[in-house]
Amino acid sequence: MARILAIHAHPDDCEILAGGTLALLAEAGHSVTIATMTPGDCGSSELAPDEIAAVRRGEAAEAAALIGAAYLCLEMRDLAVFSDDPSRRRVTAALRETRPDIVLTASPVDYLCDHEAASALVRDACFGAPAPNYRAPGGHPPLDRIPHLYFMDPAAGVDREERIVRPDFVVDVAAVFHRKRAMLERHASQRQWLLRHHGTDDYIAMMERWTRERGALAGVSHGEGFRQYRGHPYPQSPLLQELLGGRAIPPIAGVVS
Ligand SMILES: [Zn+2]
Repeated sequence: MARILAIHAHPDDCEILAGGTLALLAEAGHSVTIATMTPGDCGSSELAPDEIAAVRRGEAAEAAALIGAAYLCLEMRDLAVFSDDPSRRRVTAALRETRPDIVLTASPVDYLCDHEAASALVRDACFGAPAPNYRAPGGHPPLDRIPHLYFMDPAAGVDREERIVRPDFVVDVAAVFHRKRAMLERHASQRQWLLRHHGTDDYIAMMERWTRERGALAGVSHGEGFRQYRGHPYPQSPLLQELLGGRAIPPIAGVVS
């Protein structure tokens, strides 16, 4: 059985972009940890940062528990996730603590600075985690090797200029979509926040629309897209695709959505 670490910037990002895939992997018996860089301390108009952070840590832990996953918060702060030396060492510590075979993280291009910084942090910490001389807090031993690294889709599947970011493969999550939905529903504080700040009252519907659009790329009703990072010397073998078997489907040529 494999160890999977899904690590993104904020509580709810992993659920929106990879919740179905994580549910499938957990159902198959793999060990799953969901981690966030921040506890979502800016995600409220009413509560103070420490108060909303406490609420959202609890929501994230409950969402993870629905699929038997653990939750870990790296305790950076919203709009203050930077690809810098102390942050990279903190991500390295999380990697050495959870010891994943596979890491799923944020897209390198996305609409929000924290997402892009999280992506760079995780990519580079995966490189550093096996290096004994690269020191990190916590005292965990270095990893044996660089883990397999995958990028989730950006929000809505597009970059800042709304160009489509095409995945390497789409995971068919139709069979577990109800579980993905239940995970996101645990983030109840965010419906109110998105209504006030983003002007949208369709938090769950938005996720469903994106999941359906990704599915259409591969001819299934609900999908989540991923790209494997193959930079030298990261693992090249399709480990995640093999664990998912026939549910990992290449996009259909000529289909865009
Ligand atoms: Zn986010």
